[in-house]
Amino acid sequence: MRPKRALLLVAVLAVHGCADDSTGEDGVRSVPLAPPDSLERVALDPEPERAFVRVPPRVLYPSPEIAPWTVAAERSFVQPYQAEAADEGIPGYRLVDGAASVPALIVVDQGDAPNRVVVPGPFDPATFNRISLRVACPERETVRVAFRRQAGRVFASDARAVAGAQGLRTLVFDLPEMRRQRAPFDELAIETGGASQGIVIVAIELSLEPLESFVFADGEVPALAQGANGETRRGYPLATGAPLVGELSAGADVELAFAYGVPRAFRSDSGSPTLRVTAATASGGRVEVSLPIGAAEWEEATVELAALGGERATVRFELEGDPAGFCVIAEPRLRRRVERPATVLVITSDTHRGDHVGALGNGLVATPALDALAARGVLFENACSVSNTTNPSHVALFTGLHVRDTRIVDNHSPLVADVATLAEAFRDAGYRTFAVVSIPHLGPEASGLGQGFDRVSAPTEGERDAAESVSRALAFLADAHSEPVFLWLHVFDAHSPYEPHADFDRRYYPGDPFDPSQSFDFKGKFLPKYLAGLRDVTFPHAQYRAEIDYVDSQLARLLGTERVRAGVTLFTADHGESFGAHGVYWDHAELYPDSLHVPLVLAWPGAPRGVRSRVPVTHMDVGRTLLDLAGLDAVPFGGRDLRWALAAGAAPAPRFAIAGYGFSASMEAGGWHLVLHLADHQPVSVLEPRTRHRIELYDRTTDPDCLEDVAGREPARAQSMRAALVRWLGEARAGSLGTEGELTPERRAHLRALGYLGDSGTTVGDEWIDPECACAECRAFQ
Ligand SMILES: [Zn+2]
Ligand SMILES: [Zn+2]
Repeated sequence: MRPKRALLLVAVLAVHGCADDSTGEDGVRSVPLAPPDSLERVALDPEPERAFVRVPPRVLYPSPEIAPWTVAAERSFVQPYQAEAADEGIPGYRLVDGAASVPALIVVDQGDAPNRVVVPGPFDPATFNRISLRVACPERETVRVAFRRQAGRVFASDARAVAGAQGLRTLVFDLPEMRRQRAPFDELAIETGGASQGIVIVAIELSLEPLESFVFADGEVPALAQGANGETRRGYPLATGAPLVGELSAGADVELAFAYGVPRAFRSDSGSPTLRVTAATASGGRVEVSLPIGAAEWEEATVELAALGGERATVRFELEGDPAGFCVIAEPRLRRRVERPATVLVITSDTHRGDHVGALGNGLVATPALDALAARGVLFENACSVSNTTNPSHVALFTGLHVRDTRIVDNHSPLVADVATLAEAFRDAGYRTFAVVSIPHLGPEASGLGQGFDRVSAPTEGERDAAESVSRALAFLADAHSEPVFLWLHVFDAHSPYEPHADFDRRYYPGDPFDPSQSFDFKGKFLPKYLAGLRDVTFPHAQYRAEIDYVDSQLARLLGTERVRAGVTLFTADHGESFGAHGVYWDHAELYPDSLHVPLVLAWPGAPRGVRSRVPVTHMDVGRTLLDLAGLDAVPFGGRDLRWALAAGAAPAPRFAIAGYGFSASMEAGGWHLVLHLADHQPVSVLEPRTRHRIELYDRTTDPDCLEDVAGREPARAQSMRAALVRWLGEARAGSLGTEGELTPERRAHLRALGYLGDSGTTVGDEWIDPECACAECRAFQ
C-alpha cells in the first residue's frame, strides 16, 4: 500500500547493506501490516436497576455507644488510652496528624500469644465486607481481625504484617467472604502479635463495598483485574443478581470471544456457579450457552453468532447456581477469523549492554537469535536509552515523552492514566494488547504501564526467569491466533545477580574465580553476597555474558515463530550495565555509555536485510516508528520514525538523558558527551561521590568509553554544551506525570540501603536546575 518508490529504496539499501549509502530523502518505506480492522470490542454495563451499591461506612469507634472503656479486653494491659499521655509506655512514640486529643485503644504485646481487643456485637455479615482500622504502630506488628459467635472463632482474616513507623495510618481488611456468612457474629476481635511494644487504635470502621472494588483498584471498568497467577486481564465484574448487558452487531463471519475467571478472594467450595451467555435480536434470533465455572484462572470461551442472521443483538452475561457468585468477564470482543493477523512485538531485555550482541562481531557473547533478527532487519549500533533506570526508561519508550517531562525518575511512581501510551494507540486501532514483564515494579500498579493492555502478566514478587516469561508470551500469541496483536515482552535475566543457569554457568570463565592465590584489584566499596570470596574482578562480567547468551536462547523460541517472523519486531534494552568503569561496579548507575548504550534491532515485513546504522538514535523514536510500520501514521505520538536514520545524510539530534532519582543529566552532540550532576549523590555501587552541579565532558570520537574528563581542557565547549543542557532542562513541561509513589518505611529503608536517599537526596521539583545558580561549580562554566 506504500508507493513503489519505497520498495525501490529497500532494494538499494539491501545491496549496499549500509544506511550511510542510502540515497532516499525520507528513509525506507515498505508495505505496512494488514489493517487491523478485524476486531470489535463489546462494551458491557450492569443492568441499570441491578447496579452495585455502595453503603456509607459505619463507624464503630470512636463512638458514644462504644466508649473506649466499654471495650472488653482479654488482658489487663489492653486499656483505654488517652493521647495526652501518648508517650507513656511507648518510648519515643507520639500521635501525629493533629489527632493529639483523640481517645485511643492501646494494645501492648507481651510474649508470643496474640492479644485482642474485643468489640461486642452483634455484627450482621450482610452489612459489611471491609474493616478499616486507624492505627499507630511504632514497631513491626502483625494484625488481623476475627469474628466469633459464642466465644468461638468462626472467621479470621489473614494476618497483616505492619512495619513500624511514626504516625497514624489506615489498615484495610477486605473481606469479600462475608457474603457467604449468614448468621450474625457476637464479637469482633482485633488481634495483634509480634515483638513490638504495641499498637494504638484510634478508629474502627465497617463498610460495605461493591464487590468489584476488591478486584478493580480504581473502581472504573473495564479495568485490569488481577488473577491469582499474576496475570491481569481487562474486564468487567459479574455477580449473581447483577447481569452485564451489551450490544453487538454480528456479521455471519464473527464469533463472540471472551475469557472468564474467578479472582482468588472470591473462590469458594460452597457454590458452583454457571455462566449463562445469551444474545438475542429484536426479530427473535437467539443463541445461548451455559459454561461451568471451573478452577482454572482464566477460561477462554467463544460463542457462535451465525444464528443471529447478522442483526444487531443484545448480549447478556449472568451467573446462576450460587447466590454469592462472582466472576470477571474479560476481553469481550467480536472475532473475525483473519488469515495472517498483524503482529507487533516489543522486547526489552533489562540491563542489556549495547555492545553485547553477537552480530557485532566483538566476540563478547553468542546471540544467534538476535543475530538472525538483525539479519532480516536493521541493527542500530549507536542507540541509547534516555535513563539508566528501569521504569523511567520504559515509560519514555511507551509514551514518547522524555524523563525530563514525565519526571518519573524511580521505579515506584506510576504513570498517570491520562497520558496516551503506545499500547493504548494499538488497542484503539483494533489490536489485542498483551504485556509480559519479569519484575513486579514493571507491573500495572507500580509502573502505570498497564494502561492500554488487555492483559498483563507480572510476577507479584521476585524476578521471573525468561523461560517462563517467553512461555507466557507464546501462550498469549496462541490465544490470539487469528487476531492482530501488540505484545510487549520484558526479560530480566541479565540484571544482577549474575547467576546463569547450569548450562550457561561459567561459559565464559574456565578458571576458578575464588582461587585465593589470585591478586584481587577490586576497588568497589562492597562485594555483593553472591560474590563473597571473589578473587577475580572480571568474573562478574563473564557471568553476565553467559546470562545474555541465556536470554538469547529463550528469545529464540519466540523470534523463530512464523507469526513473529511475519510481523514487526523491535528488540532493545532499558539501559546497560557498568563493570568498573568510572568506579561503577556491576550496576547501571551514572550516565556514561556503559549505562546508556543499548542494543536496538528492528525488523519488519519488507525491511532492508542486515543493515547496520551507526547514526545516534534513542528510544524517543521507537513508538512513532512502530505506529508507522503498522500503518498507523495518523495516530499522534512523539518522536520521528527511526527510518529517518537510514536516509543519506541523516542529521542526528542531540541525545539527552536523566539519571534515576534525578541525580544527573547528560547531553551528547557532535561526538561530545557532557554530564551535569543535579545533586550530590553516591549510590553504593559507585566508588566516588558525585558533586552537585559539577560537569564532566568527554570526547567520544577519541574516547568512546568516556574515560577522560576534558572539561578543563575544553572550557568553551563545556560552557556551551552545559548552557544547551540547562536550556533543554528548562523547557520541561510543568508537573509530574507520575503519581506520588507510596514511599513505605520498608521501601525507604531499602532505597537508603541502595544509597539512593542520602542527606543530599534530590527531589523532583518544578526546576531541574536553577539556571542562575551561582555555586562554585556553576560559576566555573557559566
Ligand atoms: Zn532495568
Ligand atoms: Zn550550581
